[in-house]
Amino acid sequence: MTGIAPVKPLRVAICGGGISGLCLAVALCRFSHIKVDVYEAAEQFKEIGAGVMIWSRTWRILQLLGLADAFSKVAHAPPDGTMGVGFDFRRSDSPNEGYRFRLVEMPYGCIRFHRAHFLDVLVEHLPKDVAHFGKRVVSYSQPNSNGPVTIEFADGIDSQCDVLVACDGIKSTIRGHMYQTKAKQMKDQSLLSFIEPFWSGTVAYRGLFPTEKLARSGTSHRALDAPMMYCGQSKHVVSYSIAQGSIVNVVTFASKPKAEGSQWDGPWVAECPKAELLECYAGWEPEVEELLKNIEQPTKWAIHQLQPLPFYVMGRVALVGDAAHAMTPHQGAGAGQAIEDAFVLASLLGRCHDTDNLDSALKAYEHVRLPLATHVLNGSRMSGKMYEFDSQHGSDYATLGPAIQGQWDWINWSSPEEDVQRAVDYLKRDTFGSKL
Ligand SMILES: Cc1cc2nc3c(=O)[nH]c(=O)nc-3n(C[C@H](O)[C@H](O)[C@H](O)COP(=O)(O)OP(=O)(O)OC[C@H]3O[C@@H](n4cnc5c(N)ncnc54)[C@H](O)[C@@H]3O)c2cc1C
Repeated sequence: MTGIAPVKPLRVAICGGGISGLCLAVALCRFSHIKVDVYEAAEQFKEIGAGVMIWSRTWRILQLLGLADAFSKVAHAPPDGTMGVGFDFRRSDSPNEGYRFRLVEMPYGCIRFHRAHFLDVLVEHLPKDVAHFGKRVVSYSQPNSNGPVTIEFADGIDSQCDVLVACDGIKSTIRGHMYQTKAKQMKDQSLLSFIEPFWSGTVAYRGLFPTEKLARSGTSHRALDAPMMYCGQSKHVVSYSIAQGSIVNVVTFASKPKAEGSQWDGPWVAECPKAELLECYAGWEPEVEELLKNIEQPTKWAIHQLQPLPFYVMGRVALVGDAAHAMTPHQGAGAGQAIEDAFVLASLLGRCHDTDNLDSALKAYEHVRLPLATHVLNGSRMSGKMYEFDSQHGSDYATLGPAIQGQWDWINWSSPEEDVQRAVDYLKRDTFGSKL
């Protein structure tokens, strides 16, 4: 535990218990002067049956939070800092054997997990009595811009806090309320356009299966050795092993570039016939077909994203994770960006021993996190186009390969510690003269 214990704890309410909400809660619970409550609409914490990958920046945060040992145990293999494969890019949309056009390598490579295992580690590190289930936030009010926030729940039992953090995902209720309130205040209807996510023009098919199904087929499959990116015109297929190599994760993408921004009719997630998946990639190289035919029950996802938001904070309410910057998954970065939000915000709130500095802390959070998350959101969209030969590079591999690699440059722009330092410097400047 760090920090001094004040008479009155700082009350931080987190709405949503996904990766961002739980990571923020775990990071905040290190401070004895902060009382954390996580309000989750569902009856339990849960994640879908799929893989999730993170990069070295996110791993560094997990180390700083003291979670590296626990996450090492559930990773595909314990991360050791050596150079590893980010992705092995192949041209795969013809029946002949495809070919590599770029190998992207980086320190730690691609660190990957089963989502449920990832969430379990966070849940295990959550102190008792922090989580409240069946609590769906429907709205909030903050009559005085530097006073407490009242959270309204669907069950009719309200609650008060000093800071409300929206970790309620891409369809965030809190983002909706925040942007409606601001639009009214500013008499600016254009702000309403930031509330609803839009369809990216891409659908994804997802599935998992036991590694032994591939191993049985004789020669070793490339997806067992390294994260694979099989690319074709307006489509791509991602596959890598998770859960100490015992499970193969597959997620495939099929795009209609001109449909980007249009309305998706139907459910965002649904089971779909296996035949639809196989048909979508018919005529691709044999090792792709081998992956797809092992998926028993694929699910189909309409991939949505947000426009980059102009602000994440209003009064004592902050947006975090997908509520702030839901992005396409093409850089494997949405959850990582959520964890970066959580780390920076927790580091700032940990320095606020009363409510006096809260406004500056939230401003500092936005100052540091919004530009990078926006960059990654825009970059993810562009990466997807590159993988599907729909960018300005087309299939000119000589320029496409380096361009794809360059899309991940942001990973080395700064370290998480440097980001926190910048945020703290901002907080100190903004609260000049106060005791921090
Ligand atoms: C196909 C695909 C692949 C991806 N792969 C990767 C990857 O490899 N790496 C990566 O970093 N990212 C990846 N992402 C992105 C990543 O999954 C998300 O960015 C991340 O899960 C967002 O977490 P979150 O906690 O912000 O939101 P969510 O996971 O959506 O959690 C929101 C939580 O809030 C709760 N909630 C919602 N509304 C309310 C309410 N009103 N009141 C109370 N609770 C509420 C929900 O029940 C839920 O528990 C991928 C996304 C997709 C679609």
